[in-house]
Amino acid sequence: METKNEEKPAAERTIFDAIGVNDFIEFKNILAQHKGTVDFFDENGMTALQHAAYKGNKDMVQLLLDRGADVNSGKHEYNYTALHFGALSGNSEVCKLLLDAGAKSTTTNSVGRTASQMAAFVGNHHTVATINNYVPRNEIAYFSVIQGQQTEPYLPGFLVDPLHKFVLGVNIHPVRLALHLQHIPSLLENAEKVIKVLELMCKKEMTRGGDTNEVMAFKYHYLGYLIREIHNIKDKKVNTDKDEKKHDVIEVFAKKLLKPGKDGFSLDLMDAFLKDCVREFPYRECTTFHQMVTSLTSKDPPPALSVINCTINGQRGFVDAIPYCSTCGEEKPAKKCSKCKSVQYCDRECQRLHWFVHKKACNRESSTPAPTSNSKVNIDANELSSQLQNLITG
Ligand SMILES: [Zn+2]
Ligand SMILES: [Zn+2]
Repeated sequence: METKNEEKPAAERTIFDAIGVNDFIEFKNILAQHKGTVDFFDENGMTALQHAAYKGNKDMVQLLLDRGADVNSGKHEYNYTALHFGALSGNSEVCKLLLDAGAKSTTTNSVGRTASQMAAFVGNHHTVATINNYVPRNEIAYFSVIQGQQTEPYLPGFLVDPLHKFVLGVNIHPVRLALHLQHIPSLLENAEKVIKVLELMCKKEMTRGGDTNEVMAFKYHYLGYLIREIHNIKDKKVNTDKDEKKHDVIEVFAKKLLKPGKDGFSLDLMDAFLKDCVREFPYRECTTFHQMVTSLTSKDPPPALSVINCTINGQRGFVDAIPYCSTCGEEKPAKKCSKCKSVQYCDRECQRLHWFVHKKACNRESSTPAPTSNSKVNIDANELSSQLQNLITG
């Protein structure tokens, strides 16, 4: 049935052309007139979906998937899949769409490389992390179905999507995850159930035989451990002060982790918290656990956060040039401290959470040659108000 080297039907040719020049309007118009399957091939055995993925064009990919494009279809001579092309484009959202549509992340090309390995090869680290952290929704939905003798499922149905979203997160900085939880309160409100499901998912990853995924197992353990810690703060808060708002729990947690140690900048408390988390990983025989412990107990150990990040998201090179949010580690944050311009934040929330640390450095940097004799007079307004606050509550 193949039309070998014959002319492609005009409509198919124009679809490929529109993708080639990233013309979405034209693409949408021709596709609307095109009847039948969208899984047709160009002369290289590539589908329209593969071309759109390679272009990193999210809208085109979405439209083709809506039209029933087969995400694993293709006759590319080097066995590249749509996900391989999406990975090469470096557009993580395109990869996420393809994965949601059932793209197999384990498929290898003719040189034995998976999509995420190809993304790593060309330096698309966020895409690598997106693919490696991907979990199909049904892995979580599984726990919302009554099993065996159960009278109720492990996870109420309304928590499937929030938990799925939480688990897919690529930034594993504890403050970023805490802020994420603040925006989806249902997970914290049902902390015990969520922790139980994460423990079960962790166990499941370790008992898949040949498909054992130690890294994902550790990630589930890590997420569960973090929720438990925040949940414990919440419990204490509820006991001591019934009027506390929910976001204060996140604030207590974030400020505890961001508090600098004696040297003024090392995050000793965060390090201790994360080391405890590694220590409590229940699968101590596995390679991943051994690697983390070896690294954490080495002579000049890296921060536990970077050890955990490397474990979950893979080693990355040349990262020094990328700016990070000082609060939550998010890459390429949108805002700078307007006073000193030397630190960056995602938004006001992140800046606010970090102010108790940054205020000293900020005043130092922004008060250009400040005479030392004046330093005592130069009391920071925020510090003063927090002192007043303490006077009232204390
Ligand atoms: Zn941030
Ligand atoms: Zn500043």
